[in-house]
Amino acid sequence: MFNIIDYPLPFRETDLEPFMSAETVRTHYGRHLTTYIANLNNLIADTKFADMDLREIILATVNDAGAQTIFNNAAQVYNHVFFFNCLGRGNNETPDIIANAFGGKEKFMKQFKAVAADVFGSGWVWLLHTNENKFEIVATKNANTPIAHGQKPALVLDLWEHAYYLDYKNRRADFVDVFLNHLIDWKFVVDNMNVA
Ligand code: MN
Repeated sequence: MFNIIDYPLPFRETDLEPFMSAETVRTHYGRHLTTYIANLNNLIADTKFADMDLREIILATVNDAGAQTIFNNAAQVYNHVFFFNCLGRGNNETPDIIANAFGGKEKFMKQFKAVAADVFGSGWVWLLHTNENKFEIVATKNANTPIAHGQKPALVLDLWEHAYYLDYKNRRADFVDVFLNHLIDWKFVVDNMNVA
């Protein structure tokens, strides 16, 4: 059984204002993530997946056509927990290790925005840390997640409409810009990269 209290927010609901409202945090974390967890618990009850951790469920279902609903809910739980951990105020300056990998902070942001702009419909934008200690920016559709494909995420942005619509309405590009400049907790990203 998965439980929302095992995935606490690393900030208070109001901490991300005005860039992300308390209402968005409350709805996104308290309703969307909680629903994915409830769905997943219902789907895996009394199945071979019941005693697996999240990563094991994702890997066991990604190529199983009959288990795509389980995959989708498990991946959405993983993606959201990682996304919320990537957010915070106070460590928002792009670190040199990332900026330098893209030829400068502006180029990093420009490439991230371009990948985000190409996402049609619901999806996620990822900064991946490769085995060669390089970085790349990719998008995944719907619930798809890099950890299902042997890739190591360093950072993620949720681009489902529920992530920004209350605050930014249809101005998705503004949300991407605000995320890059004001919402990333780079300390978490870099610390997590170094232990993963
Ligand atoms: Mn979401």
